[in-house]
Amino acid sequence: MRTICVYCAASTKIKPVYFEATARLAKIFTEAGMSVVFGGGCSGLMGQLADSMLAANGKITGVIPQFMCDEEWHHKSLSELIVVETMHERKALMAKMADAIVALPGGCGTMEELLEAITWKQLGILTVPIVIVNMDGYYDSMIEMLHRAVDENFMRGVHKNMWEVVATPEEVLNAISNSANWESNSRSFAAI
Ligand code: AMP
Repeated sequence: MRTICVYCAASTKIKPVYFEATARLAKIFTEAGMSVVFGGGCSGLMGQLADSMLAANGKITGVIPQFMCDEEWHHKSLSELIVVETMHERKALMAKMADAIVALPGGCGTMEELLEAITWKQLGILTVPIVIVNMDGYYDSMIEMLHRAVDENFMRGVHKNMWEVVATPEEVLNAISNSANWESNSRSFAAI
């Protein structure tokens, strides 16, 4: 069974279309026999993802820092909950467990996780596919910013191969399969 790392919003106040897309993605993963690792939260898209995975008898593992459990922010009925000390340990473990990374819409936490994964891929620390689910064009300005970074020589053109952008959850599995091959020797051309 392959494990997909999902980054997504904790917010409960976002448009219904994002919740619907998250529920569809969970169904797609379970039907494909894939398990999920995520941030372990019970709210927003994280809560939706977990509830939908569990409703479909899927396996979902949360990785969450102790301080968030102290705040009761963790989902209470996950297949597995791994409690770590720091946010950095959480992100490192989630990335280590992942055969692919998928970013749904989210706030600064999700964007930070996504950009860190892209940074690690550039440095050859990870090589797995990274798929951005650009529902409703939510990530248009971030993608434009990444392209500007390439256009202005902050990154190489080949670095655009580090991520795939799709508009809907239904395109995620194909995007993972068709993701450009990325080798750990990418460090040799990380610098520009
Ligand atoms: P965001 O995209 O800013 O909503 O953040 C999602 C990520 O932020 C999660 O993976 C967590 O790292 C963290 N986070 C922020 N708020 C919460 C919360 N209430 N419960 C759990 N995790 C949260």
